Amino acid sequence: LSGSEIIALLKDHPARTPEARIVRCMSERGAITAADLARATGLARSTISTALSELRSAKIVIEVAQSMEVRGAGRPTSVFSLNPRAGTCIGLHVGLSSLRLIVADVSHAVLHHDEIGLGLDYTPQAAMRKARTAITDAYRRSGLSPHSLLGIGVAVAGPVAPDGRIQRASIVPNWAGVNIRHVFASAFETAVFADNESNCSALAEMTWGAATDIDDFVYVKIDVGLGGAIVVQRRVVTGAAGAGGEFGHISIDPNGGLCRCGNRGCLELTAGFRTVLERMSHRQKRSVTVEDLVERAFGGDVDCVEAIAGIAEAAGRGLGIIGSILNPGVVVVGGFGATAGPLLFDRLNDSYERHTLLKRAQLAEAQRLRIVPARFTTDGSLMGAVALVLRGLGALQGGG
Ligand SMILES: [Zn+2]
Repeated sequence: LSGSEIIALLKDHPARTPEARIVRCMSERGAITAADLARATGLARSTISTALSELRSAKIVIEVAQSMEVRGAGRPTSVFSLNPRAGTCIGLHVGLSSLRLIVADVSHAVLHHDEIGLGLDYTPQAAMRKARTAITDAYRRSGLSPHSLLGIGVAVAGPVAPDGRIQRASIVPNWAGVNIRHVFASAFETAVFADNESNCSALAEMTWGAATDIDDFVYVKIDVGLGGAIVVQRRVVTGAAGAGGEFGHISIDPNGGLCRCGNRGCLELTAGFRTVLERMSHRQKRSVTVEDLVERAFGGDVDCVEAIAGIAEAAGRGLGIIGSILNPGVVVVGGFGATAGPLLFDRLNDSYERHTLLKRAQLAEAQRLRIVPARFTTDGSLMGAVALVLRGLGALQGGG
C-alpha cells in the first residue's frame, strides 16, 4: 500500500466522492464514528456506510476501536481512522540552534522523534541537508517505506508569509526572506508546507487537542516568548503577511524596554518568561529554564510563584486587549507555562476579568470566556506541522 491512493483522495477537490470527503474529514479530525462522519460531511448514513466498506477493503481506513460511549440501545459504536500504514508525514520545527523532527502516520501516532543540533546562525541549506540525512535514517530504522511519505510540514519561530517566505523577526535571523517551501521542496520530492509555530500549535489543538469541537478560538503560547494564533471557523487567520496572532508583539508601552523584535514595550517582555529567566539566570549564575522555574514554584519557592503570577497578570491584560478585538469564547493556553496549572490559570482568569469590558456576572454561562489548557505543551508545533500537511494536501487546489 503506497501513499499515492490516499494523496489522490486528499487532493480530490472539491471532494466529489463520499470516499474523498471521508478521508479528508478523518485527516482533519482523527478517529471518528460513522455518526460523527455523517454530521461532519452532511452525507447520509447509508452513503457513509457504503463508502466506509469500500475504504476498508482498500485498506485506506481501519476500524480502530469501539467507542465507550453508550448510545440509545447501549450498543458499542465503532470508531474508524485512516490506516496508519497508508501514509506518513514529517513535522519539522526550525528553532534557534536546532531542528526537531517527528515522523507521524496518518492516524497521528508519532513513529519517530529526533532533535538535530545545528549551532547558531545555520543556513537553510545546512538545515535541509541535516534534515534529509535524519529523515532517511528515521525511515530506514523504523522500517518505513519512503514511498509512504505524504508531505513535510515546517513550523517556524517567526512569521511566515502565506507563500512560505520567512519574514524578518524570525528567531533565526539569516533565514529572513528565504522561501522555506522552495528550500525543502528542492531536496524532497514531496509536498512541503510551512507556517508559524504558534499557528501550527493551534492547528494541533484543533485537530487532536483541546479544541476539536470548537470552531472559533484564540491560542496563546506562554513560554520563553509569548505566541498566539486566531482561529475563525476552523481556519487559522495568518493575515496578509503572516503576522496575524503575534500577540507577544502588541506594543503596550512605547517607552518600555527593547524587545528582541526591535520595537519597545512589547507584551512579551512582561507576559513571557524570558525577562524573568534572564534575571534569575544572572542571579544564580546558571541557565534557568521555564521547566526549572515551574518545578520550583510547585515546590513552594515564593520568588518563582510570584514570577508566574506576574506573567499571568500581564498575559491576562493582553487577553483583555484581544478580548476587546475578538471577544473569543475560548482561549487555549499552551507553551510550558501552561504546566504551572492553577499557579498560572487562577491569576490569568482574575486579570482577564479585571481588564475586560464584559464581566462574568453580566453574561450567560455560554457567553463567558473559558480559558483552558492546551493538550500539547511541548510538541504542539511539531504535531501541528503534521496537521498542516494533512490539511494542506486536502486544500492544495484552493480550499476545502
Ligand atoms: Zn516585540
